[in-house]
Amino acid sequence: MIGLVGATANGRRNAAHLAEAWDDARLYEEGPKEALRRAWKECDAVVLFLATGAAVRLVAPLLGDKRTDPGVVTVDDANRFAVALAGGHDGGANRLAQRVADSLGATPVVTTASDGLGVPALDSFGRDLGFEIEDRQDLAAVGAALVSGEPVNLVSDQRRPLGPLPENLVASEDPEPPLVFVSDRMSDVPRPAVVYRPPSLVAGVGCSRGAAAEEIVALLRSSLEEAGLSEKSVASLASIDAKRDEAGLLEAAERLGVPLRFYPAGALSAVEAPNPSSVVREAVGTPSVAEAAVMVSGAELVAEKRKSGMATVAIGRLPARGRLALVSLGPGEEALIPALARDALAASELVVGLGQYVDRVRHLLRPGTRVLTMPLGDEVARAEAALEEARAGGSVALVSSGDVGVYAMASPALELAGDDVDVGVVPGVTAAQAAASLLGSPLGHDHCSISLSDLLTPWPAIERRVEAAALGDFVVSLYNPRSKGRDWQLGKVREMLLAHRPPDTPVGVVKDAYRPTQAVTLTDLASLRPEDVDMLTVVVVGSSQTKLVAGRMVTPRGYLS
Ligand code: SAH
Repeated sequence: MIGLVGATANGRRNAAHLAEAWDDARLYEEGPKEALRRAWKECDAVVLFLATGAAVRLVAPLLGDKRTDPGVVTVDDANRFAVALAGGHDGGANRLAQRVADSLGATPVVTTASDGLGVPALDSFGRDLGFEIEDRQDLAAVGAALVSGEPVNLVSDQRRPLGPLPENLVASEDPEPPLVFVSDRMSDVPRPAVVYRPPSLVAGVGCSRGAAAEEIVALLRSSLEEAGLSEKSVASLASIDAKRDEAGLLEAAERLGVPLRFYPAGALSAVEAPNPSSVVREAVGTPSVAEAAVMVSGAELVAEKRKSGMATVAIGRLPARGRLALVSLGPGEEALIPALARDALAASELVVGLGQYVDRVRHLLRPGTRVLTMPLGDEVARAEAALEEARAGGSVALVSSGDVGVYAMASPALELAGDDVDVGVVPGVTAAQAAASLLGSPLGHDHCSISLSDLLTPWPAIERRVEAAALGDFVVSLYNPRSKGRDWQLGKVREMLLAHRPPDTPVGVVKDAYRPTQAVTLTDLASLRPEDVDMLTVVVVGSSQTKLVAGRMVTPRGYLS
């Protein structure tokens, strides 16, 4: 919950505005001192509509521990600045300042060093990958080294999709301090070091009816200790279907704060566990539960099964998964680059795409990001290059203009991608949508897109689709309408459509939508001149219902008829 505290008339008005606009905000209407005291107790973060000086005085006596204090954002009376005053990272004030700024039209002010310098904040490093910090004692020392540009070694037991790292955070095998250390293994690291525990371990658990949670947790802890592994890295427990309602097992998972996955006996008996037991097979229909559950989870067994009176535990390590972001860049204009695309690009250590598209977003890449550009025609090579990086555990973005899923790179990439990489797709504004917005509302009723490129699709198939679209009276967006080597197709399509639609059917010809060279032409089917059309154009042909209203192309939805 976000607490909103105003003092002046303006401040109260703005606070009330946010309280209306945000589901997770609460207005505190008493005097500012009392309001803040209450919000401090009840909220995760507070927005104070006060000058920073007044805010500092009010907040000072309440400050305790930065890990638990609410984040504080202040907004000046004229609504110009949203200042992340305290709790930038842990308290979420940096993010909140941006949110307040977005809602009020103010400028966010963020002063934590790591953000200004593009340095990862060590207290949230790897948080999206589920990292936990082992202990916090050296956070400040290593953080200071990082911010001041001193070399800091990054030692990780596996490659992980950490995103672009600052130049002085150097991946290394050598645990020389100052150190950022990522591993599920317990080991003595030289100080100063910040040790992160990735969620990389799966514990397979078998138990007899009535086994107590204490016994299971104790066996797991001693198994981890013997194997030299950290409990903080245990990401899940795994067991057999038959134990779905085994109270002690459920409670053990709850105490450890991890999910519990169950597998059927058939799946467990299909893997070859190193220590099978005929007694277990008689009882539950698989010779191994603990070890087999680890293996079926996709983990590599790193600690074979150990037994206590009523339980067995085995431990496995999951391979780190790389990330592939399939990123839409929109038609051309900066403001139409999706916010999610900006996030994905900033989180990628490699960006792959056509040179002209990558050039459009270079300013959104963090220092240290590698760029791989390839020419038109190398689509499969582009997809492979991106996947190779993701398979190796990296984080990579593959970009396309418009929408990445529309006549673009998402399909070849996903045809080739296995389930060993995590994939996210960022949607974008397509050329057809962009063109439509410039023409009016031609896509207001049923519509389709047809690409006239017969490089990958046989021409007879394209003709059949055009014929079907004509018969179905669809508005048609024609992609790849014409190029130097393909100059007759658009004329042929025009004829085919003319056989079903009146000659004055509106047609929009949009070249370079939302780019500096944008050109928008309205014409009709009879007057459409294919020679005026090129590869950078979308042609939107109206249906029998499409009309011009005040010079705008409109396909009625039907409300007015
Ligand atoms: N993924 C893209 C389509 C790529 S196919 C999208 O979602 O829009 C390439 C074709 O898209 C071009 O031949 C042209 O027909 C069309 N196109 C792409 N960008 C365009 C733009 N800015 N203006 C007009 N047409 C565009």
